[in-house]
Amino acid sequence: MKKARIGIFGGTFNPIHAGHMRAAEIVQRKFLLDKILFIPSYIPPHKESVDMASPSDRLKMVELACAPYSRFIPSPIEIEAQEKSYSIITLEKIEKMYPETWLFFILGIDAFLEIETWKEYEELLKRCSFIVVSRQGYRLQEAKNVLEGPYKEKMYEFPESGEREEDLFSSYRIFLLPIDSLNIASTEIRRRARKGLSLKGLVLESVEVYIAENRLYQSQNG
Ligand code: ATP
Ligand code: MG
Repeated sequence: MKKARIGIFGGTFNPIHAGHMRAAEIVQRKFLLDKILFIPSYIPPHKESVDMASPSDRLKMVELACAPYSRFIPSPIEIEAQEKSYSIITLEKIEKMYPETWLFFILGIDAFLEIETWKEYEELLKRCSFIVVSRQGYRLQEAKNVLEGPYKEKMYEFPESGEREEDLFSSYRIFLLPIDSLNIASTEIRRRARKGLSLKGLVLESVEVYIAENRLYQSQNG
């Protein structure tokens, strides 16, 4: 039987937006992933502010955004841990939940450029594959400068176009995937919400409604 493939897509998701969904859709198709787990990170309550929505609001928005997609699964795994989660710990939990599965970490190039600051990142690289997608304002090529040694050789850069090459998948560890990304960031969405500007096209409609109804990211709550 073919080994199942699961993507792990973590983030603050404050809030989840169309750029996240676009990236996930492309990665799911390209790597034939059976599902993608969307994992909002836990941020301790003392960091909550106008700018940082509560874990439950961020999770709820992830649930709303994933609802139209059968392969996109919201996961409360980090939020339920109620403490700052390191990716390596999350990975260990997911490995237990899905044994004998090929796991792929999905992240944008901006996040990958900081990988050396992650706890036990080399262990993480050993244990799962990475799919790094392009993001406007960053050069995908720069991924090659952050790692030294064996993992440099384990990087595969997809050409701008071209078909999926199945046999490559097991020879490489880190995939650099140029995508037609949307130039959207949560920071900009929060700024627009604060000013009362429309979020149409930037987030899914259900998420836009949730933000408005719950008055997220607005200076006067209530
Ligand atoms: P913020 O502006 O608050 O940092 P963000 O838009 O960067 O928010 P995050 O929750 O920080 O969103 O990102 C989660 C993951 O999604 C990261 O790996 C990030 O690189 C990736 N990502 C975010 N926005 C995009 C986008 N528009 N295109 C591709 N990847 C993205
Ligand atoms: Mg970010």
